Parts: sequence; C-alpha cells; structure tokens
Amino acid sequence: MMQILFATSEARPLIKTGGLADVSGALPVALRELGVDCRLLLPGYRPVMTGLENATEVARFDPSPGFPEARLLLGSMPGSQVPVYVIDAPTFYLREGGPYNDALGVDHVDNAQRFALLSRIAALLCEPDSPLDWRPDLLHCNDWQTGLAPAYLNFAGRPVPSVMTIHNLAFQGIYPPELLAALGLPPESFKPAGVEYYGNLSFLKAGLYYADWISTVSPTYAQEIQQPTLGMGMQGLLSDRADQLTGILNGIDTADWNPSSDLHLPCEFSSRAPSGKRRCKQALQSDLNLEIAPNAPLFGLVSRLTHQKGLDWVIQVAQGILDQGGQLAILGTGEKPVEQALVTLAQSHPGRISVTIGYDEGLSHRIEGGADIFLMPSRFEPCGLNQMYSLRYGTVPIVHATGGLKDTVEDGVNGFVFSDASAHGLWLTIERALYAFADKPAWKRLMQAGMTRDSSWERSAREYLSLYQRLVVQA
Ligand code: ADP
Repeated sequence: MMQILFATSEARPLIKTGGLADVSGALPVALRELGVDCRLLLPGYRPVMTGLENATEVARFDPSPGFPEARLLLGSMPGSQVPVYVIDAPTFYLREGGPYNDALGVDHVDNAQRFALLSRIAALLCEPDSPLDWRPDLLHCNDWQTGLAPAYLNFAGRPVPSVMTIHNLAFQGIYPPELLAALGLPPESFKPAGVEYYGNLSFLKAGLYYADWISTVSPTYAQEIQQPTLGMGMQGLLSDRADQLTGILNGIDTADWNPSSDLHLPCEFSSRAPSGKRRCKQALQSDLNLEIAPNAPLFGLVSRLTHQKGLDWVIQVAQGILDQGGQLAILGTGEKPVEQALVTLAQSHPGRISVTIGYDEGLSHRIEGGADIFLMPSRFEPCGLNQMYSLRYGTVPIVHATGGLKDTVEDGVNGFVFSDASAHGLWLTIERALYAFADKPAWKRLMQAGMTRDSSWERSAREYLSLYQRLVVQA
C-alpha cells in the first residue's frame, strides 16, 4: 500500500482560513478510499489540539537554537478518521488569533520559524532516522508554509520524492536572507537556483525549486502561471520546470453540495427530477424581496467582493440585465468600495436587484438552488468552487476563460465562457445566455450537462495517485 505524508498548514474540519483547508480535508479521504495510506501533518494550533480525536504521543523532538522542544501526536480527523500527525509545540502554535496572524490581523513575528518547524518535521519523518515506524513513500507539500520541506529533503539526500502544490501563488513566504542559517539551510542554497528570490529567502520558491514535481489546482492555471501576468514573479522558474508542472482540478464536497439532499433548500431537486428548482427560485425571490416572476432570468453571484472577482464588470452590465427583464441576487463581503457600489445599485432597483453583504452559508446554497444563471467573471481563478456548485445545481454559469473556470465550464455545452476580459465581453456572453434561456429545450440541455458533470474528489484523487505512482517508481 502506498504511503503518503500530506503536510499542510490547515485542514477542514480542524482548522480553516481558505481553500487549502478544503483540499487538505477532502483529498486525503478520497485517496484513502483508493487504497492509499495518506496521513496528514498539521501544526498543533488550539482548535487542532482540542478537535483531534484519539491523540497519543508517538515521538519527541529535542529543542534546537530558535526552535522549541516538540511532541508529535498521532490522532484522527473528526468525521473521517484520517490519521493526523500533529506537532505539539505550544510556544509556536498555541496563540491567540489565527494560524498566520494575531487577533489584530498582524502576521505572527516568528512565522518563518513556525513554518520552518512544520517543514523540518515533515522532512524528518521521511528520512531514514525518522522516529516513526511508518515511513512515507512520498511527501506532498502545500503552499509556502511547507515549502522548505523539499529543500531539507534535498540536503538530506532526497530519501523520498516530493510534490509541491500551489493553492495560492500570492503568498510566497518571503523573509530576510539573514535567517538562512537559523533555518538550517546551507549557504550554497542562497542563489537563484535555490531558495533565493530577488535578494530574499522565499519558502515557496524553495519548494518550487527543490520538489520533484509541482502541481496546481487546474490545467489552465498551470499554463497561466508560467506567464508574467499571473506568474507573480515565479514565472521564470515555473516555465523552466514546465515539464514537471501539472494542473489537477479540485473536486467539491458532493455531500454538502447535493441539490437532492440540501437541507438549506426549501425543496429538493436533481437532474432526473428538476422541477423542485422552480420552487427554490420562487422561495429565493420571496426571501430576497425580489418580484415573484417565474420566467424572469434570475442571475446569482456569491463571492468575495474583490477586484479579482470582476464585480466592476457586473456593476457595468447590471442595467442591461434589468432591461432584458432579468433579476440579480448577490451575496458577498470584501472591499468596502465594492460593497458600497453594490448596495447603492440594489437601492436604486428595489424588487429587481438584491445585495446581501455578509458571509452566509445557507443563503449561498439558496442562491445556487434558486438562480437560473450564475455569474463568475473572475479576472483570474486558480480553480474556483462556485462554478462547480452552480453546474451541480443546474444554475448555468457564465465565466471568464481563465484558470479552473475555463477547465470546468464548456461554452454552449454546460455554460457560457467569454475571453474578452471586459464588461463588454461579459455583456456579449450574457446576451448569448439570455437567447438560450428563451429556448426551453436548449436551456434544459445546458442544465442537464452541468448537473451530470463529475466534480467528485475521487476523480482528482485518481490523478494525484497516478502522479505519485510515477514519481515513486522513478525514485
Ligand atoms: P475563493 O477561494 O477565491 O474565495 P472559490 O470559488 O474557490 O473562491 O471559493 C469560495 C468559497 O467561499 C465558496 O465555497 C463560496 O460559496 C464561499 N463564499 C464566498 N463568499 C461567501 C459568502 N459571502 N457567503 C457564503 N459563502 C461564501
């Protein structure tokens, strides 16, 4: 049985700040269902220490200059029973605030050391003198917090291969070069072909340089990050390693997001029995004080309200949507000017546009359940989840041709895709969608194609497994 150590700084349901936690929570479960002995390694933040089930101590690590003594616990993930190794180092991880910053939102001052410890222990567990009997065949690292692990493995003679996955290229773990020795990195690693990044030390760069393979969360994003526009300074290295870089789409939680058993919805529906969606639409219109209009095309949008998500284009096309008899239901939080512009828009069109500022899981399900069309015009989108939820809920998505949006939505087949990154490009595509909406059989085919698409983690896990197998055989 293949043994994989999955090192990560967050995993649902123990601790979550973003999409990394969803992947770290779901992928190991799906891998285990394929017969892989995948185990997690996580820092012992307070919610992890209290949530971990059946924890026992399995090893101890001595203190070293700059690093505290640490205990290694082995327990299991609540709900899924995935084995989880947890680093119990209270001075590093039992803090007020979140995993990365304090209660005021300021980064913990010793994040370099905190995540170097995570990376160091990940590598140690793969080395011949590991204190554990369980020895991984491969180390899977995720984002900058585990980026030093492939470097440590390299300087330990590469006992096992490693994969570095990029979930968010914007966070690169950049620290002053003076930390090099304190983090246990040899002086010769501080060069462009190493951990150096424009005069500093970058944890992510270290992972991208030393890992045996790089992956990211969609095939299109794997191409886009090799270009200056979306490469965030890493495009040179990523294009040099293009033949060791793949994109594997994330799955979605098909139990949470299932229109035939979704407790947030007023009634259920499915691809075989889609009629309940009409009642979901009526209930949503009523909930949001929109006019009850069964035939009006209802556009939904659930998003962080940031520049990335293309809300400025949505604001520009809103009047056009209303002129065509449409309605808009928007939910999100984010940048204050975007929030304000949306609230103003809704105030000028009562009964036609609803804007809810806030984070509301239930309403996000009801918008997916009740809307006809979902807008997701992101400027860039590594993978994206909402377009996959929309497909599953028969809410035909309109997306920009970028990243995972391009890889999941097929123009004219299960949704609509625009390439011209502008409000005009979005508008032309909305017009095409409205034309199809008026043709009931055509619309039904679009909905059906989306609702029957496989967005399961099993499909992603199979791709990771074949990557692991190739690397382990080569090693
Ligand atoms: P990103 O990770 O860039 O925010 P994704 O589409 O990958 O975008 O994931 C966003 C996730 O957060 C989805 O699960 C979405 O439903 C959820 N979400 C975003 N904003 C809200 C909100 N205001 N209320 C409820 N859920 C939200």
